[in-house]
Amino acid sequence: MEHQLDEIESDAHRELVAAAGDRKQIEALSQKYLGRKGIITQLLRSIASLPPEVRPNAGRRANEIKRRLTAETEAALLAAAASDRSRANRIDVSLPGRSHLCAPLHPITQISREICDIFVRMGYDIVEGPEVEKDYYNFEALNIPKNHPARDMQDTFFVSEDVVLRTHTSPLQIRTMEKQPPPVRIIAPGKVFRCDSDQTHTPMFHQVEGLLVDEGVSFGDLKGTLTAFVHQMFDEQTRLRFRPSFFPFTEPSAEVDILCVICRGSGCRVCKQTGWLEILGSGMVHPAVFENVGYDTDRFTGFAFGMGVERVAMLKYGIDDLRRFFENDLRFLGQF
Ligand SMILES: [Zn+2]
Repeated sequence: MEHQLDEIESDAHRELVAAAGDRKQIEALSQKYLGRKGIITQLLRSIASLPPEVRPNAGRRANEIKRRLTAETEAALLAAAASDRSRANRIDVSLPGRSHLCAPLHPITQISREICDIFVRMGYDIVEGPEVEKDYYNFEALNIPKNHPARDMQDTFFVSEDVVLRTHTSPLQIRTMEKQPPPVRIIAPGKVFRCDSDQTHTPMFHQVEGLLVDEGVSFGDLKGTLTAFVHQMFDEQTRLRFRPSFFPFTEPSAEVDILCVICRGSGCRVCKQTGWLEILGSGMVHPAVFENVGYDTDRFTGFAFGMGVERVAMLKYGIDDLRRFFENDLRFLGQF
C-alpha cells in the first residue's frame, strides 16, 4: 500500500509538471487524482477494507498526499492563469509606431516672436494694448487730426464716432510715453484691422511696431538698428535700402526695402521686376507727437518703425498669397 501511494504521488507530480501552463490539462489531472472518482479518492475509500493494524498509517499517508497534490494543483492553475493574462497583454514590438499629431506654433506667431526676440536682445521691452482703440490714440495723438488726408491711407473699421479697431499698433507709442519719461525703448506686437481684402491684404493682420526715445538719437541710429535687425532676421548678406517716404507721425520718414529674396535683385514677378521688396516703414518721431505726450522736443529725439508680420513671413518663406496664413490648411501650416 505504501509503495503504491509513493508511486501515485510521483506519477501525479510528473504529469503536473508536464502540463505546466495548460489550464485545461491541469484541471483534467485534478479530476483524475482528486475528483469524486479520482485515484486518491478511491484509495482513501478502500482504506476501510484494510486490516485494522495498517489502517491508521495508510490513512495518514494518503491524506498527506492528497493535501500536497491539492496544493500543487492550485499553484499550477494560478501560474497558468497568470501566463494567460500576460499573453493577452503582450506588446508586439514589431508593430509600426503610432505617430502623434503635434501642433507647432502658427508661422505668424513664430515670426512675430522671432522679430520681438531680436529687439529684446537689443534691450527693448515688449508692450501690448487694446485692439479696440480710441480715435485719439489711433489717429489724433499721432499727428493725424480729423479730416487729415492721411486718414484715407488706412481704411478704418469704426466702432463708433470716436472708437475704432486699431489700424496699427502705433497707439502703444502714445500710451507708453504718457506713462513714462524718456528713455523709452519698446516693441509692440499685435493684431491690427483694415477694411481691405485681396491677395496681399487681409482685414486683420499682425504688426510689430518699435519706438526708441532718448537724448541725441539720430537717423544714423535708426539705420543701424534696422540694418542689424534685417541681418538677423534674414542673413548677413541681405542688402537693404532706405527710400524717402511720408508718414504723419514721423519726419523725415523712410521705407526700407530688402534685396529681393527670390531673384536676388535681377528682377522677378514677386518684386515686380524692381529687384527690391518693401519690408517696413520708419522715421524720426515727429515733434508734434512728442508735444502730445509732454516730452521736451529740444532735449529728446527718437525713431519709430513698423512692419507687417505676414509680410516678413512671406518674404522669409517665399509665400506669394497672404490668405494662406488664415485658411487653416494643416498641410501648409505643418511646414513651419
Ligand atoms: Zn525679385
